[in-house]
Amino acid sequence: MSAELMRPGTVFITGISASGKSTLGGLLKNGLLKNGIENLVLLDGEEIRDQLKKRGKNYGYSTAERNEVALEIARIASEYNREGTNCIICSICHIKEIREQMRRIIGRVMEVYLDCPVSVCAQRDYKGNYKKAFNGLCRNFIGVDEPYQRSYAEELVLRTGSQPLGECSAILLGSAMDFLGRPGEKVLINPNCNYHIAAGSGILESSDAKFREYRRRWIEYPRNFTVGDFPLHLDIESTNLCNLKCPHCAVTSNFWGKSKKGFLPFPLFKKVIDHAVENGVYSIKLSLRGEPLLHKQIAEMVAYARKKGVIDIYFNTNAVFLTEGTCNQLIDAGLNRISISADGWDKESFEENRRGAEFKAVYDNIAGLRKIRRDRGVDFPKIRIQAVMLDGIKEHWAEYLKLWQPLADELGYLDARKEGPGIDHRGLTGNWACPFLWQRMVILCDGSLLPCLMHGIDDLSLMSLGNVKELDVKTAWQSQKSEFYRGLHRKGHSHKIEACDRCSYRALEIKKTKNGLKEALI
Ligand code: SF4
Repeated sequence: MSAELMRPGTVFITGISASGKSTLGGLLKNGLLKNGIENLVLLDGEEIRDQLKKRGKNYGYSTAERNEVALEIARIASEYNREGTNCIICSICHIKEIREQMRRIIGRVMEVYLDCPVSVCAQRDYKGNYKKAFNGLCRNFIGVDEPYQRSYAEELVLRTGSQPLGECSAILLGSAMDFLGRPGEKVLINPNCNYHIAAGSGILESSDAKFREYRRRWIEYPRNFTVGDFPLHLDIESTNLCNLKCPHCAVTSNFWGKSKKGFLPFPLFKKVIDHAVENGVYSIKLSLRGEPLLHKQIAEMVAYARKKGVIDIYFNTNAVFLTEGTCNQLIDAGLNRISISADGWDKESFEENRRGAEFKAVYDNIAGLRKIRRDRGVDFPKIRIQAVMLDGIKEHWAEYLKLWQPLADELGYLDARKEGPGIDHRGLTGNWACPFLWQRMVILCDGSLLPCLMHGIDDLSLMSLGNVKELDVKTAWQSQKSEFYRGLHRKGHSHKIEACDRCSYRALEIKKTKNGLKEALI
């Protein structure tokens, strides 16, 4: 589904009693109204309690009752949002799990945590509630005898104990304006727009809470323009060498960066992973332009990342070197998933499009991986088989499905991008933003750091942020340059960045939205 910046949302201000929720909520409401955001309602926790009481629902202050009130507030906000009205919620809601439930009920939420020490809140508390709680006259007081559970996934944290009120209010207003939309702006952003599942169960479904959190952020961060502390995912190019010469691929024509061919050194890979894991990365892909199975230490890379705790490790491959020994090594290493490019519906079309690969060998390799998985009693790596939706494949899609579906856990296709020498996308404008800038970063095999995949751009230095040999990913992710790119995209001005203006992915997505194809399978 596409996301529009003007879609109604909820700013949820949370924190302990007297941390400044109602004050900042009121200031925010006035600020938004002054800036033209008029479809707005303020839902204050205490006022909602009074309204509920009038309707016969008299809640007390036990944790269970507080949770009930929180969920009531979420339902009210969800209703308002559905009707087109933005909400500001000011409420303590101290249980992390309940706040997560609230987010699920409401949908589009910007959570703002007011970080203020209990001692400061107690001093500010003109009602004297903290005093009562310290003296044991008031039970279940949040911050005194009942802890506030931080989620550490808030979109904004304001240190209301030390930052002046005016400063906090200005930061909050600016962030809320970006989140709820500045009048006149309407920017489309689609989190997973160029991959479509055609068959099989989604291989990204998981019962693991951390994995689900990762996938939630993957969708919500770009939609809400939330910049996490660190990219959710890193594309780490193990090599830019490829054994095939597929005619439709920009690597074949050397039109996706003109870097020297090489391999990512293992010590540099370890350095990146150590830093990434320390900063909470969820996922890595060990391929970009080349064939990762050409890297002699690919299984070691997978094993290292797995040992360090990366929860989603995968790569794209042409499967030419997916021999029995390699399959076993990759299973031992703990590879989560593997995406196999198979652009053909029979031997002839496959060998025409996958120039240099032998159809039977690739087919047998994939079948072999399935058999090894079965024999070893494991269900990983999950196998995704995918095609670039070339014209011929589109016409023979039924045959394609029939051929590959039995081998795949998931079968999908990528929209074909036009790229290569002589193809110029410049000059295309559209109120569109690239989701990559809120999800991922790229490290090329020479260590260069890019903010995105830069599809079909011959000069990758146009957006280079530095090199991981000297600069860490976190610094690059939070740099002014990265924020500058995001800022232009947020405003729908991606064409003002030279690289984006040339990018085949951007051109494809803008053309799709102009053709009314705004929906994408996620
Ligand atoms: S060059 Fe621009 S449009 Fe292309 S992938 Fe990067 S950020 Fe997105």
